[in-house]
Amino acid sequence: MIFSDKILELCQNAERDLAPLFAKIDEVSFYNTQKIMESFSENRVATAMFDSTSGYGYDDRGRDTLDKIWAEVMGAEAAFVRHNIVNGTQALTIGLFGLLRPGDLMVSVAGKPYDTLEEVIGIAGRPGDGSLADFGVKYSQIELIDNKTLDFEAIEKILLENINAGKPVKVIFVQRSKGYLNRRTLTVAEIGELVKLVKSVSPDTYVVVDNCYGEFTEKYEPTHVGADMIIGSLIKNPGGGMAETGGYIAGTARAVELASYRLTSVGCGLEVGATMGQNKSLYKGLFYAPHTTAQALKTAHLAAHIFGSMGYKVNPVWDEERSDIIQTVITESPDLLCAFCRGIQKGSPVDSFVTPEPWEMPGYTSQVIMAAGAFTQGSSIELSADGPMRPPYTVYFQGGLTYESGKIGIMSAAQSVLEFSGNE
Ligand SMILES: *Cc1c(COP(=O)(O)O)cnc(C)c1O
Repeated sequence: MIFSDKILELCQNAERDLAPLFAKIDEVSFYNTQKIMESFSENRVATAMFDSTSGYGYDDRGRDTLDKIWAEVMGAEAAFVRHNIVNGTQALTIGLFGLLRPGDLMVSVAGKPYDTLEEVIGIAGRPGDGSLADFGVKYSQIELIDNKTLDFEAIEKILLENINAGKPVKVIFVQRSKGYLNRRTLTVAEIGELVKLVKSVSPDTYVVVDNCYGEFTEKYEPTHVGADMIIGSLIKNPGGGMAETGGYIAGTARAVELASYRLTSVGCGLEVGATMGQNKSLYKGLFYAPHTTAQALKTAHLAAHIFGSMGYKVNPVWDEERSDIIQTVITESPDLLCAFCRGIQKGSPVDSFVTPEPWEMPGYTSQVIMAAGAFTQGSSIELSADGPMRPPYTVYFQGGLTYESGKIGIMSAAQSVLEFSGNE
């Protein structure tokens, strides 16, 4: 791919400004890698742990040790990580069904949860399909103030009301990342404040965090600051681009135990589950995760700088510190949104010859255009972009397995947008 002088200049300027921020990102990556390697060493990780088990999978040392390592790294009492959790939505479903019982109340405190959870909770979809609502679990939602900060007053009020009514809120649910919403991403420190409030007012309430896209962007995870449960997908940050599929849950011993009874069955918990040769890619994925996340973060900062300089509204802006890997660019034009996604596709290692087209997607009210040229299907720790075809034509993107390839993808997107807008 040949880039114009203009693109090369934009890139050079960006990297000059970003050098101190990149150094900070490297420092976080080093810190997290050190934590992971210490835990590998203390737990005597050995090649025998990559051996395959079949059938029930009793005494799978690799699996059990990785669970222990995962707990240590996340600052949690317990954890499990499994290749046979199909995606983040299933991991979240396991966690929520593990904790919630008929008559319980779940309160989402960062506004609407991720799209796919609506049917799990039962605020969308068909009654009778087996959502939490079908099982008599009640749901309520508190919006962020100005799409930015947690509404501590409203949260305290609902906690107190339910304590006074004799039945504490069972789950306070918080999504760390903005996901595909136009809101701020919450930091681990802010989630720590939330935990403090919840535990002081309503100690029996579980704090559950949708941690997708947040892992290893900071030195600490929400479990380090007291969250009862964090949940995520292995084809995002914590799989390091190495895990082929899977999900994880970490948290307090009781919360994780309850989730484990939903993962398999009551009584069996984590004692079963054949790993069928997947252990190695899960170990390797965790080993790579801080580094790969750093690559994705740098790619996002670079994009924010380049597209910001080109005059587009970007969120976050280039010099803002991050707690997830998602970047948005508002293109204000359907053609530019398409041009952006086509540029990303062209700059991908796989399927670079494909031209993305806007398409109807199940669950979306407008057409969506998507770019993904990933080694692993749907992996969004690999550079990927999508945007709904409606004003203001915002493209959401994330990932980049290596900064070098992420940079090529972003340069390709910028060139495609410049060519289309006739600035070249
Ligand atoms: C990706 C994601 C999920 C889960 O989505 P899957 O596609 O099922 O892995 C949930 N919440 C957030 C914020 C996410 O980014």
